[in-house]
Amino acid sequence: MIPKLAPFHDLEQLYVTFLQELAQRGFKGEIKSDFSNRVALSTDNSIYQVLPQGVVYPTSKDDLVTLAKLAGEDTFKDVVITPRGGGTGTNGQSLTDGVVVDISRHMNKVLEINAEERWVRVQTGVVKDQLNAALKPFNLFFAPDLSTSNRATIGGMINTDASGQGSCVYGKTRDHVLELETVLSDGTLLSTRALEPEERSAVLAGDSRSDQLHALVDDIFVSNQALIDEVFPPLNRCMTGYDLAHIHDQEGRLNLNNVLCGSEGTLGLIAEAKLNVLPIPRLSALVLVKYADFNSSLRDATELMRANPTSVETIDSKVLGLAMQDFIWHQVEEFFAGENTDAVRGINLVEFTAEDETSLQQKIDGLTALLETGIAHQGNTTDFNADTFTPSGRLGYSIALGRDAVNRIWTMRKRAVGLLGNAPGEARPIPFVEDTAVPPENLADFILEFREILDSYQLQYGMFGHVDAGVLHVRPALDMKDPKQEDIAWEISDRIADLCHQYGGLLWGEHGKGVRSEYAPKFFGALYPQLQKIKAAFDPHNQLNPGKIATPSAEIELLKIDGVPTRGQHDRQVSQAAWNSFSDAVYCNGNGACYNWNPADAMCPSYKGTRDRIHSPKGRASLVRSWLKMLSDQEVDPDQALKSSSILQTPGKFLRSLNKKRNDDFSHQVYDAMAGCLSCKACASQCPIKVDVPEFRAKFIALYHTRYLRPLKDYLVGTLEFVLPWCAKVPALYNGVMSARLVKTVLEKWVGFVDGPLLSKNRLHNIPIASARRINKLSPEQRQKTVVIVQDAFTSYFEAPLVQDLAELIRTMGFTPLLAPYKANGKPLHVHGFLKGFQRVAQRNTRMLHSIAQAGLPLVGVDPSMTHTYRMEYKKFLPEGTEAPQVQLIQEWLADNIEALKHVQFRGGQRFTLLPHCIEQSHATKARDLWADIFTAAGQQLDTQSLGCCGMSGTYGHEARNRDTSRKIYQLSWHNSVDAHEADELLATGYSCRSQVKREAQKHIRHPLQALLSLAAHNVDSSR
Ligand SMILES: Cc1cc2nc3c(=O)[nH]c(=O)nc-3n(C[C@H](O)[C@H](O)[C@H](O)COP(=O)(O)OP(=O)(O)OC[C@H]3O[C@@H](n4cnc5c(N)ncnc54)[C@H](O)[C@@H]3O)c2cc1C
Ligand code: SF4
Ligand code: SF4
Repeated sequence: MIPKLAPFHDLEQLYVTFLQELAQRGFKGEIKSDFSNRVALSTDNSIYQVLPQGVVYPTSKDDLVTLAKLAGEDTFKDVVITPRGGGTGTNGQSLTDGVVVDISRHMNKVLEINAEERWVRVQTGVVKDQLNAALKPFNLFFAPDLSTSNRATIGGMINTDASGQGSCVYGKTRDHVLELETVLSDGTLLSTRALEPEERSAVLAGDSRSDQLHALVDDIFVSNQALIDEVFPPLNRCMTGYDLAHIHDQEGRLNLNNVLCGSEGTLGLIAEAKLNVLPIPRLSALVLVKYADFNSSLRDATELMRANPTSVETIDSKVLGLAMQDFIWHQVEEFFAGENTDAVRGINLVEFTAEDETSLQQKIDGLTALLETGIAHQGNTTDFNADTFTPSGRLGYSIALGRDAVNRIWTMRKRAVGLLGNAPGEARPIPFVEDTAVPPENLADFILEFREILDSYQLQYGMFGHVDAGVLHVRPALDMKDPKQEDIAWEISDRIADLCHQYGGLLWGEHGKGVRSEYAPKFFGALYPQLQKIKAAFDPHNQLNPGKIATPSAEIELLKIDGVPTRGQHDRQVSQAAWNSFSDAVYCNGNGACYNWNPADAMCPSYKGTRDRIHSPKGRASLVRSWLKMLSDQEVDPDQALKSSSILQTPGKFLRSLNKKRNDDFSHQVYDAMAGCLSCKACASQCPIKVDVPEFRAKFIALYHTRYLRPLKDYLVGTLEFVLPWCAKVPALYNGVMSARLVKTVLEKWVGFVDGPLLSKNRLHNIPIASARRINKLSPEQRQKTVVIVQDAFTSYFEAPLVQDLAELIRTMGFTPLLAPYKANGKPLHVHGFLKGFQRVAQRNTRMLHSIAQAGLPLVGVDPSMTHTYRMEYKKFLPEGTEAPQVQLIQEWLADNIEALKHVQFRGGQRFTLLPHCIEQSHATKARDLWADIFTAAGQQLDTQSLGCCGMSGTYGHEARNRDTSRKIYQLSWHNSVDAHEADELLATGYSCRSQVKREAQKHIRHPLQALLSLAAHNVDSSR
């Protein structure tokens, strides 16, 4: 049994009073000081972990003013506040031991789009991709790009002056900021924009707080121009925090925005921004130039720039290799078709954009002419021979034409960045020297020396970069749990900082400084005191994100890279047994890919539905890491605790569960976070680190219930698969009882279960069972023409007509369908943490399915989610050496037998839209796409829409506590598509999805096989 885990009660009285007072002052957003909120926001993507005192979620500019005004009062002068956006910083920028101000949760509205004048006004919590989605109908876009565009906010981008691919043409975020509304540390509202000379004169003569700030900053620029020219390197990336070089912009206007950009929350809370937006280039193309070694690709980049591309990006073979093993690869593999990818050790991605086809083609031709001169094996690396390749090292190239193809490659590149954070073993790639920038012509030499330093420590690393801007990304692998390796990180940091300086470059080319501000005096030299003057004027009491960028006086020190608590220091307190037991959680590196804004992406529905970071894979993994540390403090081994649980503990559990609400146990907070997970498994495939929440959630729930009683609902759901065969003997009675209002009320109020489905009236009596006797009687020829349908509780009992239709389609194709004897699949047991029961079921079911498969009969599952359980959850629960049963998805079997399908006569050419199950979206994209081929073979047209989760996900949407979120998720992702189509045109592969559409939209939509069957010449009535 697990012990009680007291949450930290380490809140300082000053903060307790501050947060209480904030509530009194009319702050409208949430004010949180519970341990789980604090833990969820204690990390970003950096190596650091800092526990805040509290977290506030402002709803508006007014909330920010209320907050800052209170903080500005004398009593609270020691309160520290740090704004936060997407939390994707790589250097601890948004971490604090004070109050986190999470602007992203509510302040995420696009306020105004002026397409004619090409600007947009937003709240700063808007995510960059969200903004571009809103701009797309106007054919406009916000140009600065970054790899984290699906979760980083405009506020974060402004405050780190973010930039990325395309920066040589589009510049940095600063170049697109027109106006900012900033709340200063005393609650003053500061409006900033570029000031024309006469406006500047007026402001310099004024005496408001805003005027004074403008005057001070202007004076710093005017008085230090020579020094600024000397200190600021002439790089595309420029030196941020604070960008003194651009206080007067290119037109000579005084522009405080340029100081606020890159200020990392140290000068004010930026509430709103007016941004410049550009027309989306009409056409684009990307040339993938492949090299025999990475160094050649780097050196060649300068040459490629002669073709005037929009951008040139380089990736090395390690990054390419990671992408090749990822689900994303199938989207881009056509650009490597027939090639020996092992020979490719580096790639330059050269993008061109244009308004018309002729100029696009001219640009491409310009590059290819240049390439032709130095390629040993044009467009093909299969016969690569190291002795014959040309000095340029170019192996060949391929061309991706059109926006869609280009976007697919950039998506692969962006994702590969995250994948770099993954590696087997304890040494994991970490950011601390991850975004250096040097003049592009020095890049190759700089990298040689960089590599020498890393190699001297024998570290593993992968590299990629924006070679056009001289930016290199590298994350050496270190096990920060080991204090000696942590010291190596600090040593390397110092050495690389020196190297950057020596090459006339920067340690922070893109991601900002954060804790690395320690090096600011080194890079700013004699200008550093000017930064301090700015900080002192904006934030005299050092309350805003202190210790970063600059301190307000010489007496106050900046943070030190080795002086801030690290994740490694936290994690080394977790016992090895606990660490191993929860290996699906502990490696989360906080990159935030699971905060994905896009409703059409599978990850993560519970975060999208709540916008609560606790309800994201990262939130859950973070809570579990803290929970494991607490267990380790009490010397508890989770696996032992699970094994030692027994029925004799039930009375104790009963007593503990009685006063649960008063029982201050951190496990309750972790339980709440787990209970909100849909077990959709999107994280398990889409998280670059493969954090698998359903896997560790199941174990956590099992452990939680070694101490506390289970809710009745768990037993209802867990045993459903076993009792259904009995209920199905009296379907009318079952349906009558389940439809009775009293029963529904009891189920909702007492059991926590809503909208339970009703049994199908017709059962599957016309499909013979695949008994051993029947199978044995089959001749070898008959076996080749027999297919076994693997039943699952949901379709066999609640949607029997679908199983009948599957059997009918199989017959129509000239095969004989048999039904595998019904056995529980066990997924609901796994989801609810009945792990011992799940193991028994998995082993029993595997034996049965193996015995059928051994007779040479293909097994076909009906529901994608249940079928994937054999591929995913079963694996870990079978005895060593036992293979999981090979159960095909329906489309996989149909694709294998496409010739037989082609012999069926289908009535011609209808058009359908497929809404695939999210498990196919994230784990079986190839299989998902098979449906289109199958429909084409049947003479029909199928469009596949990528949507996120429908919000039902097994029994999640049937749990009363989840009903509202389930609905919200549906509204976000499925509602519009379902609304836009007639029910007849829509198809869905998942049982959950079909029932959610029925519940939320009162539409009955079919499985794709039912659409096919209804069009077959000898179809049966598929509306049973
Ligand atoms: C895998 C990976 C790839 C990355 N690739 C790139 C890249 O290509 N280019 C690039 O530029 N960066 C990149 N980054 C870094 C990071 O994504 C950017 O710095 C991004 O701009 C941060 O945005 P955010 O919303 O996550 O901000 P956060 O990390 O939450 O905050 C960043 C800073 O901004 C401040 N801040 C946030 N909002 C406000 C506000 N409204 N008012 C005042 N201060 C605020 C915070 O206090 C903090 O100092 C990458 C990071 C990761 C993990
Ligand atoms: S769970 Fe995965 S995607 Fe989310 S922050 Fe952690 S590592 Fe990144
Ligand atoms: S399983 Fe789905 S809902 Fe649960 S954490 Fe992973 S992505 Fe989110």
